[in-house]
Amino acid sequence: MADFDLAIIGGGINGAGIARDAAGRGLSVLLIEQNDLASGTSSKSTKLIHGGLRYLEVYAFRLVREALIEREVLIRNAPHLTRPLRFVLPHHSGLRPAWMLRLGLFLYDHLGGRHILPGTEAVDLTHHVVGEPLKRTFRQGFIYSDGWVDDSRLVVLNAVDAAERSATIRTRTKLVRADREGSHWQLVLNARGNREVVTARALVNAAGPWGLDVTEHLLRTPPTAHVRLIKGSHIVVRRLYEHDHAYIFQNADGRIVFAIPYERDLTLIGTTDIDFKGDPAAPAASADEITYLCGAASAYFRHPVLPDQLVHAFAGVRQLYDDGASRAKDLTREYVLDLQAHAGQAPLLTVYGGKITTYRRLAETALRRLARYLKVGAPWTAGAPLPGGDFPYDGVEALTARARGLWPFLTEGNARRLVRAYGTRLDRILGDAREPENLGEWFGDELTATEVRYLMRHEFAETADDVLWRRSKLGLRVGAEAEAALARFMEASASRTAAE
Ligand code: FAD
Repeated sequence: MADFDLAIIGGGINGAGIARDAAGRGLSVLLIEQNDLASGTSSKSTKLIHGGLRYLEVYAFRLVREALIEREVLIRNAPHLTRPLRFVLPHHSGLRPAWMLRLGLFLYDHLGGRHILPGTEAVDLTHHVVGEPLKRTFRQGFIYSDGWVDDSRLVVLNAVDAAERSATIRTRTKLVRADREGSHWQLVLNARGNREVVTARALVNAAGPWGLDVTEHLLRTPPTAHVRLIKGSHIVVRRLYEHDHAYIFQNADGRIVFAIPYERDLTLIGTTDIDFKGDPAAPAASADEITYLCGAASAYFRHPVLPDQLVHAFAGVRQLYDDGASRAKDLTREYVLDLQAHAGQAPLLTVYGGKITTYRRLAETALRRLARYLKVGAPWTAGAPLPGGDFPYDGVEALTARARGLWPFLTEGNARRLVRAYGTRLDRILGDAREPENLGEWFGDELTATEVRYLMRHEFAETADDVLWRRSKLGLRVGAEAEAALARFMEASASRTAAE
């Protein structure tokens, strides 16, 4: 008998989403992540849950419809991690004509079931607050709906939920070899320097941009599809405007660039699309990409955005299914699941492509495909909140007010951050604390030992980076001294736990 029904390589959104779904259907599941959860592409996205207005131009109606419907499923199931977001699309007289924008937005409004999100409206930018930060030449525009998500926390909470449904989550554990031994897979793992061997009845390769490497070198099987690795970079600058809408700017090269309110007082601008070669672990925004993004934003904003204004920059690499499109921007964003199994052999399912937005549907499709080999229960995730998400989709303000009542020493900003991160589980963290001192050491203005301990015990955090960049985005505000203190605290806590 195999140790697990299903082993999944890759703790990004696709691996974690499949692990959660599978565990909830009664399978014994092992999720293997070589680094931290969401340390790959799934923490480097633009963080939109969107249908992808631009994909309408390449007639990707199936993908757009599925993603549009999925926006509201996610908003309902993770009301803490997500929020509806209104986008301003200025009409540019030299680019797509207004009738084309109107038609695209009409389709966007009507292709996928829309119940929570408001529809599109036309705006006179010369008289609307969203026109104020823009150059005077932009007079007409549209405002439409999509959503926002904390990408890395979405991954982590899928893994937390999977673990609560008995999945085994192994971070800092790398698959180094896999062999098909008839009806099961034998997997060799490098777990923090220790060699381990486990067996599973089925294997999923959800290694994102490492997927091809896993296929060729660890599974030693020929790739079943062409993929292309595409790098996308983002820059973060101080808030460029006061209102809470995002902008979608059309560029002369046919691409689009977003400018999005980010982490209270910042603006996130992205992205680029560049063919990538090299190690997907270390992509970086190049000087050319930074210049490109500053230029794209400066073409619309009244005050130019300059490279010396950068607070932060990051880059991620997508693994896209190569459908033969010549330009990176035109490659399909559809996911493709390839299932390889000859009679009597343990199956291998490989994930190609995908989006954060559609991860839950991808997981459902994966399990439907695997149902021929494993005894899987019925789909269940469409109406199941993620941990802490068991409150109404528009309930963040009420929960924040409640948090400030219960823990009056929290600032408004920190209370909202905590509610957005933990939802109804905040009670488990702050408990009956009555004053700041009850929460132990503080690392910067917001992060406390109590929260860090919770992240270590319940959310697989092990290093300062895990806490500052993937369990939160506090890396944007915590200084070097607080970061060093946090690292010391986490090391000491880990050795205390190991000694117990
Ligand atoms: P990853 O998140 O990369 O996860 C793969 C994991 O596998 C990694 O953590 C890696 O460490 C692990 N791994 C690899 N090899 C091994 C091994 N041998 N052993 C163990 N573990 C291993 N989608 C949206 O819906 N909305 C957006 O706004 C959006 N914006 C994007 C912007 C950019 C710039 C990019 C690049 C992508 C964007 N996407 C967006 C797409 C989305 O981010 C990706 O489709 C998604 O994150 C891919 O998840 P994944 O789980 O397949 O891969």
